[in-house]
Amino acid sequence: MDIGSSSQPLAPESKQEFLLECVNCHQKNSLDKLASERAVPPFRDGLTEGILICPECGYVTHCYYLSKNLAFKRVEIFNEIKILSEQKTTENFKRVLELKEEYKILFDGEQRKYKEMLEKENGQAA
Ligand SMILES: [Zn+2]
Repeated sequence: MDIGSSSQPLAPESKQEFLLECVNCHQKNSLDKLASERAVPPFRDGLTEGILICPECGYVTHCYYLSKNLAFKRVEIFNEIKILSEQKTTENFKRVLELKEEYKILFDGEQRKYKEMLEKENGQAA
């Protein structure tokens, strides 16, 4: 009797490949290959920029700014999730949701702040 051979291909949803097309050269690459982070030079407070960089032509797309405040909040969330995985209480779950909500608000505020700051600096050039 044949009890389900293992030669069956994996379900498509188990293979998470998300392809993005470069607006410059139109090559498609997975998000893994494109996503990167780099320091934003004019700032002294360790500001990092999340970018997508095309491995074919080097075209860069800005995604977000990652400030120290945001990095700190990320660690906080990471730690709470760890606590939650060890102690699955309603309270711990609520705390994670709270922190994620705080992160969203902080994220939006920081994006606005750094966008304005960088625009000002660039605008004052020459
Ligand atoms: Zn490209």
